Amino acid sequence: MAEKLTAVKGMNDILPPESARWEWLEDVVRSLMARYAYRNIRTPILEHTRLFVRSIGEVTDIVEKEMYSFEDRADKHGDAEHLTLRPENTASVVRAASEHNLLYDGGKRLYYMGPMFRRERPQRGRYRQFHQIGAEALGFAGPEVDAELILLAAALWRELGLSDWRLEINSLGQPEERAQHRAQLIAYLERHADGLDEEARRRLHSNPLRILDTKNPTMQDLVNGAPRLIDFLGAASLAHFDALKAMLDANGVPWTFNPRLVRGLDYYNLSVFEFVTDRLGSQGTICAGGRYDYLIGQMGGKAAPAVGWALGVERVLELLKEQGSQPSELAPAAFAVVPDAQALPQVLQCLQALRAAGVSVQMHAPAAGSEGMGSMKSQFKRADASGARFALIFGQAELAQGCVALKPLRGAPQEQVLEPLSQVEQWAARLR
Ligand code: ATP
Ligand code: MG
Repeated sequence: MAEKLTAVKGMNDILPPESARWEWLEDVVRSLMARYAYRNIRTPILEHTRLFVRSIGEVTDIVEKEMYSFEDRADKHGDAEHLTLRPENTASVVRAASEHNLLYDGGKRLYYMGPMFRRERPQRGRYRQFHQIGAEALGFAGPEVDAELILLAAALWRELGLSDWRLEINSLGQPEERAQHRAQLIAYLERHADGLDEEARRRLHSNPLRILDTKNPTMQDLVNGAPRLIDFLGAASLAHFDALKAMLDANGVPWTFNPRLVRGLDYYNLSVFEFVTDRLGSQGTICAGGRYDYLIGQMGGKAAPAVGWALGVERVLELLKEQGSQPSELAPAAFAVVPDAQALPQVLQCLQALRAAGVSVQMHAPAAGSEGMGSMKSQFKRADASGARFALIFGQAELAQGCVALKPLRGAPQEQVLEPLSQVEQWAARLR
């Protein structure tokens, strides 16, 4: 027997009925993004490796060990390109914005949805192919756009029925403020070198801020006592942060200040935030983002401020499940019972007209290996299992009169009625 093929470790098939939850979530997002005037952007899944090295930062988990990178086949000059499956989408959005000069007439509000790839240890809420939905506002400097993005996320939770979250915010200030803090932080960490784990020791001089982000429980006291970045911020940075907090307060979005929130990517400044939940174990961050005013310029574009977030679709759906929210029913409105295969051309014609009129209809089709269309009894069993509210019976007697029988399957008992095939539009409304 041939070897049975399976999906790659950490990469999931999304099957019905679960896929219905995904479509529902995506629909809610599209409708909400439209109301906030964010427009869709779709970038390639494959990019040049250097795009991510330059944007995400060399000394980050993602670039150090999580990227799926490979060398492409050489072209006719013998040059092979280094390519990477995108681990996140902000870098690509920034690349596309400068490549196509999207900001030539002012700021742009964009959103995306799609798969991302990181070679992490698979576990609940952490996969190697996972999906993000993200919103990015490019070319706007004010805290009102930070607030708008956070309000957008909060509105999304409301429309999805997600209640078990809290919002943590912090300000990373500006590069010169971070440099002052960094010197003090390194001095502090050097004084406590005994308490650092191996990873922290490695990052001590390359990326000490990230040490504050450690999940190692034995280092928590040490990082709690470290110099706080917020104490190094100047008046302008603090004013930006205060304005954001005031706008969140005015809109009833509760937040907590987390001075240790630094985010995993290097490119952030000023506002950073995370929506977290306690109900998903250690994979509790459902959405994260912040300001990245220097990234666009750093990536070779014309300098422009920016702010954005990304949410983890798997984690949001898992949290909804955890809260007991039921998936929406996806039953067809009607099920077509077809006793005789000879009627099929006419049946298809009628179903086409119903679908054009907005009715969802499932047609009976015999299972592989069975003979003929199957008995009426077995077809009615299937009709019932489909969850349809009506059966459409295309029997010989009905067809001879130019009609189809409409039989209610659910709800209060009702008589079966005959409806004319020539006037589908007139009775289709009853099925919708
Ligand atoms: P974490 O701290 O959980 O590793 P992160 O800081 O690496 O998250 P981001 O790069 O900010 O995550 O991505 C935004 C969101 O995408 C996260 O908050 C999370 O919901 C989701 N996410 C990130 N990595 C994964 C993954 N491997 N599997 C599933 N979801 C993920
Ligand atoms: Mg991570």
